[in-house]
Amino acid sequence: MDGGSAHGADLALTPSAAARMNRLAAALLLVTPLLAFAHAEQADLILVHGQVLTVDAHDSVAQAIAVRGDVILKVGSDAEVQALAAPNAQIIDLEGRTATPGLIDTHAHIADGGVDELYGVKLSDARSVAEIVARVKAAVSMTRAGDWITGAGWDEGKLAERRYPAAADFDAVAPNNPVWLMHTTGHYGVANSAAMKLAGITAATRDPPAGTIDRDRQGHPTGVFKEDAAMTLITRLIPATTPEQMRAGILHIQEVLHSEGMTAVKDPDIFQIQWDAYRSLLDAGQLKVRICVLWDAGITMASAQHALDEINSVPRLPATLGRGRLLSCGVKLFMDGSGGARTGWMWQPWMRDGRAVDLTQDGAPNTGYPHIDPETYREMVLLFQKSGVPVGTHAVGDRAMDWVVDTYALAEQQFPHPGLRHAIIHANLPTPHALDTLSILQAKYDAGYPEMQAEFLWWIGNIYALHYGPERDRRLIPLNTLKRRGILWSGGSDYSVTPLAARYGLWASVARQTSAGREPFGSAESVDRQTALRSYTAWGARQMFLEDQIGTLEAGKRADIAVWDRNFYTIPTAQIKDMKCLMTLLDGQVAYRSASFHEPIHAAGAPRRSKATRGAPPIRG
Ligand SMILES: [Zn+2]
Repeated sequence: MDGGSAHGADLALTPSAAARMNRLAAALLLVTPLLAFAHAEQADLILVHGQVLTVDAHDSVAQAIAVRGDVILKVGSDAEVQALAAPNAQIIDLEGRTATPGLIDTHAHIADGGVDELYGVKLSDARSVAEIVARVKAAVSMTRAGDWITGAGWDEGKLAERRYPAAADFDAVAPNNPVWLMHTTGHYGVANSAAMKLAGITAATRDPPAGTIDRDRQGHPTGVFKEDAAMTLITRLIPATTPEQMRAGILHIQEVLHSEGMTAVKDPDIFQIQWDAYRSLLDAGQLKVRICVLWDAGITMASAQHALDEINSVPRLPATLGRGRLLSCGVKLFMDGSGGARTGWMWQPWMRDGRAVDLTQDGAPNTGYPHIDPETYREMVLLFQKSGVPVGTHAVGDRAMDWVVDTYALAEQQFPHPGLRHAIIHANLPTPHALDTLSILQAKYDAGYPEMQAEFLWWIGNIYALHYGPERDRRLIPLNTLKRRGILWSGGSDYSVTPLAARYGLWASVARQTSAGREPFGSAESVDRQTALRSYTAWGARQMFLEDQIGTLEAGKRADIAVWDRNFYTIPTAQIKDMKCLMTLLDGQVAYRSASFHEPIHAAGAPRRSKATRGAPPIRG
């Protein structure tokens, strides 16, 4: 109606022309909404003959999905959906295969993990110290003398020697290259002697507060450094990742996500370089997953203020960039260390081998330690609460978690701000007090959500079982207790602590098995399939502040859809780990299609070979 040629030349209309225009305008006003309505109800993409796990309020299973643009129009029976297809609609025949909402990981360090995978020595499948040494040797042969060799992913629980690698292991193969190899948990790592020499580390170097330098019987550093305070003595010397490397790392991981049916991730510990990389990929039209970030707020009020300044310089929630592609979701704080390094802050001591109590260097029972001064932590949370910024706090030990939930309760009481959805990251071992507090926080303030990693029980389950000991093992990651009490949580991998694929987390939520196939954690805290899937979809969407847009397959939601070769609700537990993603859609666009998914995408008008549909059940609710 803003047509051009009439303007200027025909400014003065004759009375009859004016009347005609008015009648035309009136008619258009009447007709346009009806036209728009009829138009909007036509789907340009339909998926039919499937088993659609909707994750709606009733865990309904439907047959088909109609999509228009980037939005789901309808989820229902084949007939209902086919009736909506526009004449030229694309049709994907699922032939009985399963569709779920795109899976959501609410704790995965994908930017840094991607850089490690592209540029570092990969150690997650190393099965002996000798193998690690051999890989470092190979890396040295391709590197100039003096340059750093970095790598990540080793786990002594999977090494034949059942011990940490030590500096001495690498000195023969890397005499002239500093080496830093991060443990899979990211909470400790090993340096070689060249790296320690560069850093000026000697037997006289004292442990920093909230950090541990491992030593032999004579007091000489072994090369293993635990927690940031100690690790940075070495890692501050490693050349920084470049912006190009960061973008390449993200693009690399984005492909992995798509191939695993994953469409949204919370990247929980970022700095400006990661944000800039995400932002520039978004601007270039290359960001094809939804990313919600937490800014690292450090351990001091100054670093907290710095994080707040960074947050205030980008769009704040509920605003998103790229229509729900990139969100600044708050800050990350660390309350304590890890269960792998036995540095988590505990009420009862860590165990060394499942039987004996672990002792500190001065012979006291080791109950771990806070990563940050607890009172400073509290002050930081109050600052963010007053500023309306969501907080996610890493808490592995039960004592750390109690401090975190009490701090959230205090902050909400003093400066109520329902809806910030403060999270407890990992939340391995909630006490009865923590559970009570979570219930209240969620009901009253829409806050206090565990972001948990069932995968820990599998991937680092060997060392976890020994470090927590038999009694606590049974209560680790107590998903069923949370479910019984109506406490919501969301799932995640903590990649690259564990592998990225969400199917492993779905499996671990049900199976609770170690990588050695043992079950020290029991099955009392397993959850049913429906709940497990919800924790990687609908509940994950809440923690990304996108629950109105993603997380379920329902009319009005964005068309983020994963197609699988089997039905997660009905396959034997052991098979869950082996589910194969066949296709991933983001915003209604095909982001990934497996080579084994041969089913053609037809246009609606084109002739199709007829084929009986396999066992797609009618919708039920
Ligand atoms: Zn993490």
